[in-house]
Order: sequence, then C-alpha cells, then structure tokens
Amino acid sequence: MSEKPNPEAFEKLGLHAPLLRAIAQAGYQQPTPIQAQAIPPALAGRDIVGCAQTGTGKTAAFSLPLLQRIDAAAEDEPAIRALIVTPTRELAAQIGASIETYGKQLDDIWHTVIFGGVNEKKQIRDLQRGVDILVATPGRLLDLAGRGHISFKSIEIFVLDEADRMLDMGFLPDVKRIVAQLPKERQTLFFSATMPAEIEALAKSMLRDPVAVSVTPPSTVAERIEQRLYCVDKADKRKLLAHLIESEGGPSATQTLVFSRTKHGANRIAKYLDQQGIKAAAIHGNKSQNARTRALDGFRDGSTPVLVATDIAARGIDVEGVTHVINFDLPDVPETYVHRIGRTARAKASGIALSFCDAAEEGDNLVDIERLLGEHIERVEDHAFASKRPAALTDLNSRSKPRSSGGKGRGKGGGKKSGSRRGGGGRRGGGRSGSANRSSR
Ligand code: AMP
Repeated sequence: MSEKPNPEAFEKLGLHAPLLRAIAQAGYQQPTPIQAQAIPPALAGRDIVGCAQTGTGKTAAFSLPLLQRIDAAAEDEPAIRALIVTPTRELAAQIGASIETYGKQLDDIWHTVIFGGVNEKKQIRDLQRGVDILVATPGRLLDLAGRGHISFKSIEIFVLDEADRMLDMGFLPDVKRIVAQLPKERQTLFFSATMPAEIEALAKSMLRDPVAVSVTPPSTVAERIEQRLYCVDKADKRKLLAHLIESEGGPSATQTLVFSRTKHGANRIAKYLDQQGIKAAAIHGNKSQNARTRALDGFRDGSTPVLVATDIAARGIDVEGVTHVINFDLPDVPETYVHRIGRTARAKASGIALSFCDAAEEGDNLVDIERLLGEHIERVEDHAFASKRPAALTDLNSRSKPRSSGGKGRGKGGGKKSGSRRGGGGRRGGGRSGSANRSSR
C-alpha cells in the first residue's frame, strides 16, 4: 500500500466535522487506500463495488459515508434507512462497534445489530423502539423480517459486506431473497475480497453504474508479513506447534491465531496445547455464541494467548495485536491463505505467518498458494520436527505439479520479511455484541 502521510486527507474526502472528530478520536491519521477511493463517490450517492478484504479499513470506507448521508436526512421517527448485511456474527458485532465509534459525534442516529444463535427477544425489542441503521446476518434478518419485525421499505442505503464469503457459506440464496425485498431506488455499496464469477454476476444484478474501487490484490497483502514454511509429518504437527509457540517468545509474549481445517481438529489442537501448559481455546461453528464470545474475549485480553479457529469462524475476527498466524493445515483455496495471514497485519501492523505442510499438502495446496503469491514461501529446513521428505520448490509459472528436488532444491524463496512484530494497538476496542445503540446524542 502506498500511503503518503497527509493528516488532512480525511477532510479532503468531504466528511463533515462530527465524523472527522470521531475519526481523530479513533486515532486514524490518514485514510487507507480503500477509504480514499470509496468515500467521495459514496458520499455523492454513487453505488460502489469494492474489492477489498478485512484489514484494509473497508468498514470505515462504507460506514463513514453511510453515517453522513443518514445524518443529513435524519427524521424524527426512526425507520431502517441503512441496512448492512454481513456473513458472520463476529463481523456484524464489529461493524456495530465501528458505527458506534464513527457515529459518536452525531445526534440521534440509532443502530442495532442482529444475528442468529442468541435469543431474539432483545433484538426484537430494539427493532420495535426503532433504529436508523441495522447491521445483520442474513438468516436472522430474513427470519425477523418474515415475522413482521423488520420493514425494508425505508431503506435508502444497502451494504453487502464480504459477498464472496456469503457464497462460501451458502448464504447466496438468502442474500438474493433480501435484495428482492429492498426498494429499487437505493444506494448499494458492495464489498468482496475476491470476485469469482458468481459474485460478479450478483454485483451486476444489484448495482447501478457502480464506481469500482479496489485495493491490494491478494498477492500483495502479504508484503508486511514474514512468512515461513515448515515441512512436517502430519503426526508431528502438534508437537511442532507447541515448540514454535514457545520458541517464538512463549504464550506470554505472543498472541497466536492457529488455523485448523476441521472443527474436530481445532478442538484437538486446543486440548493438546492446554495439556502442554499453553492456554488455548477453539472457536468454530459448533460452539455456542457464548463460548465463541468468551474465547474471543480471552484472546483479546491476552488471558488465552492461543486461539484455534476454522476459516469460517475466523472470518470476522478483528484483533489488533495478533503476532503470529499459524496454518496448522494449509487451506484448499489459495485465497484463504491470504485471508488467514492477513489476520496478523491489521491496518498497518506487521506480523509473522508460519505454515505447516505435510506430504499430502505439498502438491496442490502449496503449489496453488505459491502461484497466487507469485513467490516461494521461505522454507525452514532445520527445525525440531523436520520431515525427512523435502518440499519441492513450486514452479511459479506453470500449472504442473512441483518436481521433486531430492532435497537439494529447497532454500530461501522470495518470502518477504517484515519489520516489527506488533502493530500500534489501541485503535479499536473490538466487537461488542449487538444491542440497540445510539451512535451518539
Ligand atoms: P477493517 O478492514 O474495516 O476490518 O479495518 C481493519 C482495522 O483497521 C480496524 O481495526 C480499524 O479500526 C483500522 N482502521 C480503519 N481505518 C483506519 C485508518 N484510516 N487508520 C488507521 N487504522 C484504521
């Protein structure tokens, strides 16, 4: 990202004083690239199609113009005038917290957050009192709308967040049902980290003459992250994990997010670490909302220094101080690797991403990831649990599988190094759960 220091830049985007004050209070000095690109056209009422992933500052990119536009046309009687739909509960809660932060200096803008897996009574009560901005996950939104608790008819601004993840999670039919009920006259802000064909088609069907904004293609997001690859036999992965957590500074000095392919695996890893005296919690879709919130809170406040997550559960996790991401299993979809390691480089922070690769993963998984990155991840050869079998260097240019190197071909690839391990924290307190909130009075 090329960001030149320009403390006045937020003002130049056309944001009003109350929002500028809130931005200053949040400690933001300059807009991120996605904010610089998206805020002016969004303020002008244009539709936006944004290609940006979590960590780029996209929440503020849509929330700030949304707040300004809602505020400018504030009415006495609250009605849902802006709807933000996002795939996960954590993400919904975080967007709610962002709206609260950015809207602090505005008068009488009310918002609430609704998602499934928790009792609906409070959500319904909040809706009955009236809100201007609603943040929701698709299932609970349709459920409550179907029972008459939500009306779509006053919606002027619709934000679809993480559209590609909606597709991954099977929410696309729900999203289409929601869109079909929205007023045709509206502004739509559409965000997705990647643009597979189905998502592009969805965007086309929903947007009118959109302004396309895009930042950091997936392959460059990794620039601030030190990446290393450990070839290890499957049976030794847990031991290597415990060993690395200790050797990277130990649980007291690190905050590590571990990715597991399966929910079961996540549970087993967390249990193993606990047995080794490293406090860990697992977070995945089979856990209750309370257990997920508890695990996340413990991770945020440092009392549980290791969080083991599946991809879907991790999607909404926005924790500032993550020092290490460890891919216990390599993902099947290469873009997921980029999403995962991006958890350790929030905003401008840098971090370390360590990946385990067993014999089965060395073929397609690793090859696809390195092709997407356009570089080799630095191989660590002499570690305590090194597998005898070497990982061949991916041929970055062709689709063929890597040739076996017989152990000689390994070595340092193009993996880039970054500077400090921790980023400046203290920007955002983290996701609070959804309750009816006045953005400010
Ligand atoms: P997001 O991509 O919306 O999940 O934002 C990622 C993180 O960047 C959040 O913790 C935000 O608080 C932070 N952030 C957003 N905009 C800025 C900015 N202009 N300057 C510094 N931090 C920011």
